[in-house]
Amino acid sequence: MAGNIIPAIATTNAMTAGLCVLQAFKVMRDDLHKAKMVFLERSAARVINTDTLKPPNPNCTVCGVTQSRLVVDTSRATLNNLVEDVLRVQLGYGDEFSINNEVGTLYDPELDDNLQKKFSDLGIKGDSFLTVIDDDDDNPRLNLSFSISEKYVYRQRYTSSELADIVAEHCPQNPSQY
Ligand SMILES: [Zn+2]
Repeated sequence: MAGNIIPAIATTNAMTAGLCVLQAFKVMRDDLHKAKMVFLERSAARVINTDTLKPPNPNCTVCGVTQSRLVVDTSRATLNNLVEDVLRVQLGYGDEFSINNEVGTLYDPELDDNLQKKFSDLGIKGDSFLTVIDDDDDNPRLNLSFSISEKYVYRQRYTSSELADIVAEHCPQNPSQY
């Protein structure tokens, strides 16, 4: 028995890794619609079976969240830079969404007191998280979770669009897609 375990792990791991790479090729070629869920079965007529990809479940804490990194100069960027320049202009969010961290809600349509405050004034530091929750009635996006990376920006002045570039580095183009 013991002598069978390592060969079994080695072969199934190798098969799984190979199948993952084949699907990853489709993702990298922008052929996501051709990608499939692939699973190994012991008893069915076929060893390898496939199924179509399912869209994320908005109520699922694993696949219902989009993760991204927000690289930002926390001593300069204001919450309004995130709300307007990144979320509305770059990512196309509408009016109804909120921004939350572990302390509570920082922004929502009724709470605009914090917009002019800098990230540092709001206690938003590197290695913390912000969650953007879309409350659009018709077609809400998945929750967007930003991990914050601090980056000091040396420039003295910048336009809002340049600031948005700084703030939005590594931002997904469309977090509603999976
Ligand atoms: Zn899920």
